[in-house]
This record gives sequence, C-alpha cells and structure tokens, in this order.
Amino acid sequence: MRKRIIAGNWKMYKTAGEARSFVEEVAGKVPVSEKVEAVVCSPALYLAELVQLTKGSALGVGAQTMHDAKEGAFTGEVSPAMLADLGVGYVVLGHSERRQYFNETDASVNKKVHAAFEYNLTPLVCVGESLEERESGDTVAIVSAQVKKAFEGISAELAEQAVIAYEPIWAIGTGKTATAQDANDVCGAIRTTVGELYTAEVADRLRIQYGGSVKPENIEELLSMEHIDGALVGGASLEPASFLKLVEAAQ
Ligand code: PGA
Repeated sequence: MRKRIIAGNWKMYKTAGEARSFVEEVAGKVPVSEKVEAVVCSPALYLAELVQLTKGSALGVGAQTMHDAKEGAFTGEVSPAMLADLGVGYVVLGHSERRQYFNETDASVNKKVHAAFEYNLTPLVCVGESLEERESGDTVAIVSAQVKKAFEGISAELAEQAVIAYEPIWAIGTGKTATAQDANDVCGAIRTTVGELYTAEVADRLRIQYGGSVKPENIEELLSMEHIDGALVGGASLEPASFLKLVEAAQ
C-alpha cells in the first residue's frame, strides 16, 4: 500500500508573516497517519522558520528548487547541503515553471535528483507535457523520456523513495484539470516506465502524484484512481482550510 502524499507548492506567494500563520494554523491539524503524508513547499527564505514551527507535527517542509552542487560560486542559489542542514525533508525538482523560465533541463534535473539523494532529501520530480504535445499524441513518449532522463544513474533502492509528480503543463494554474481517467492513464504509463527502468516492485512502491488545478472539489475522484498516489497543488494549497481539506480527502 503506497502512502499518499499531498504537497502544497506555494510558488512565489506569501510574506513571512503569512507563511508563519499558515503553518501555525495547519501543523497541529495534519493527522499523524499511515495513509497520508502532507508537505508544504515554501519559498527558500522561510524554510528555516517553518522547519522549527513544524517540529513534532506531521507536516513536512519542502523547497521548491535547489542547485545540485554542495557549495560554490553560484550567486543567488541554494544548495542541497543547506537544505539538509536546516532539516528540510523534500525538494520539488524540474517543475514546469523552472523548466520554462529558468532553463531547467532534463540533464539538470537528473543532477539534482542525484544531489537530493546524496543529502537525504526526498525529490518530487515533476514531468508533464505541453498542450501542443498532448494534441499531437506525444504525451506518453514525452513524459516517459523525462522520467528516464531524471532517473539516469539512480539505483533502484533510491529510486523507489522518490516521488514523481505528473503535471500536464496545460492544467497548471488554468483551472483545467486532466480528467481523472486521463491523469491515471499517464500515471500508469509512468509506472510502466519505472518498471522498465528498474523492477515491478520498484514501480509498485514509487509514489506518483497528479498536479494541475487540483482542489478540494476534484481531489477525491483523482485519488480514487489506481495509479494516483497524491497531489502537488499550487493555488488550492495557499489557504489553510483548503489545504486541510485536500489532506483530509487523502486520509
Ligand atoms: P495549480 O499548480 O494547482 O495552481 O494548478 C500546480 C503546480 O504548479 O504544482
């Protein structure tokens, strides 16, 4: 039985005060559960404080990106060693907005997946197709190529600890959700790819989230699907009540 994972991706939203009051309200209400794991991925600035505020609670804290090097002359960047030192548990890698606006590539995502495991961070590896790619029938080919590249050189033992987030680009922040069936079909294809790269057991253990306009109104149907083990949520993760409803639905 795969443990579900609901991760909020705050993107570039919230002041420090807003981040703090969200976590103060939510941390104690996240159930300690065998069934679901809940995480908020905040701007890097607030991670230190959020890790402290969530101590002793079931709410995890994640970063939204990182560099792959331990340290170095990379102005403005945050390293995996810094995240690990703070006690951050997760990191989103290869989000489509990073790929689109910040030159993240399959090759850089692969380096970062290696780095995440080196520092015991759970990577949430994002993959997904554009509208054009979907319309030309290339979704599965694109997404499985992204998965193969992201996991190049990663051992089976580590791979099964990763989370893959399937996020069709056309569904992010648009209000358009893939139908639960479409989302499940692609998540199933991702699982098949993981099985080809590793073993059926690894594919069976690795968790796959769906992301793209997930909200309390549609999460139950998405989670009812065989291959969808959780959600990576932008807009609907910003308000405590909405985030808690998503976690509750996964219970
Ligand atoms: P959205 O964002 O839920 O606002 O569509 C999802 C994401 O970008 O991870």
